[in-house]
Amino acid sequence: METKVLTRSQELIDLEDKYGAHNYHPLPVVLEKGDGVFLWDVDGKKYFDFLSAYSAVNQGHCHPKIIGALNDQAKKLTLTSRAFFNNQLGPYEKYITDYFGYDKVLPMNSGAEADETALKLCRRWAYDKKGIAENEAKIIVCEGNFHGRTITIISMSTDPDSYKGFGPYTPGFIQIPYNNLEALEKVLEDKNVAGFLVEPIQGEAGVFVPDEGYLKKAYELCKKNNVLFIADEVQTGIARTGKLLACEHEGVRPDILILGKALSGGVLPVSAVLADDEIMLVIKPGEHGSTFGGNPLACVVAVAALTVVREENLADNAEKLGEIFREGLRSIKSPMIELVRGKGLLNAIVIKPSNGKEAWDVCVAMAKNGLLAKPTHQHIIRFAPPLVITEQQILESIEIIRKSLEEV
Ligand code: PLP
Repeated sequence: METKVLTRSQELIDLEDKYGAHNYHPLPVVLEKGDGVFLWDVDGKKYFDFLSAYSAVNQGHCHPKIIGALNDQAKKLTLTSRAFFNNQLGPYEKYITDYFGYDKVLPMNSGAEADETALKLCRRWAYDKKGIAENEAKIIVCEGNFHGRTITIISMSTDPDSYKGFGPYTPGFIQIPYNNLEALEKVLEDKNVAGFLVEPIQGEAGVFVPDEGYLKKAYELCKKNNVLFIADEVQTGIARTGKLLACEHEGVRPDILILGKALSGGVLPVSAVLADDEIMLVIKPGEHGSTFGGNPLACVVAVAALTVVREENLADNAEKLGEIFREGLRSIKSPMIELVRGKGLLNAIVIKPSNGKEAWDVCVAMAKNGLLAKPTHQHIIRFAPPLVITEQQILESIEIIRKSLEEV
């Protein structure tokens, strides 16, 4: 039995290795089924999912309401392109703009595309509204940022894994340290600055939570200088941090809001950029778009995904269980835990390598014990379960993490 089981997983891993590009380094677990907070591998082993596909599955795997909407719509109409109107896009646009309180939405697919869209919007606004000379607009970004993988986005990155060897890079960005208001204030003196793009919590960098008041003050500084405050909430949005948007923790309403991932409950790529008319209408017909953006399948899935977040009070659940989870992690007495940090159900432990064992080894041990999480930047483990997780399940998970750290 054991040999056969191992063979099946290994066979599938070997296939990916042989025929797929080597642009990821996954944990050696081959998954075939998901339901709520759980995943099952091809051998039938059950795991708690503590990654949620990088926070795309906030509503839990295969949520019946979201899958139901997907199935019903898939039988009727999936894609028209934007060459024509479709009967789902308008209702979705009304729903999502009411939901987040903006005049308009621009629908895209991946998070990176939504970020690119926001950059284009910001630049065009700079020329049409702010009066910056053509091709002179600058956008401020933060060290340690992660906004995706396109050429322009990696041009903003300070992580050599992201940018090195992919130049030449797109100009027009100013990098400043994250969580540093003096640095922001200084670069805002440049009259060609049009926008400040920021993650309310830096997710990929290792769940860096800025000081309380940082976002609010940064927003005020932007306003003072007529600069757009652009929030990338692709990972932090849709209830992940205990509020619908992480910016809400500080009462900040971004000028441009970028969403992705959980906007579809992890069912298909759906992203969006939200802004008011003053900004959104600077882009005219033919100047931006995407074949799949705003397709009817994505529209009904996104409405269902957002409805689930509200109906099941996922933000409140994330807030409450996040406290319990961090308290539980802090109660673990392990020389490998250097720090526990996070907000809502976006958390991380910083691992101190011990006896040659690193974060990767802890993740392998946790997988063996039935919990999946992935290291980011070698020494940090992010914990981001689906937000439908219960208190009992959080307590069970803490025990698995405790046991795994002991074993390592
Ligand atoms: N922005 C943030 C903050 C992210 O965390 C990510 C992905 O992890 C992205 C953008 C890119 O999203 P996608 O992988 O869908 O392009």
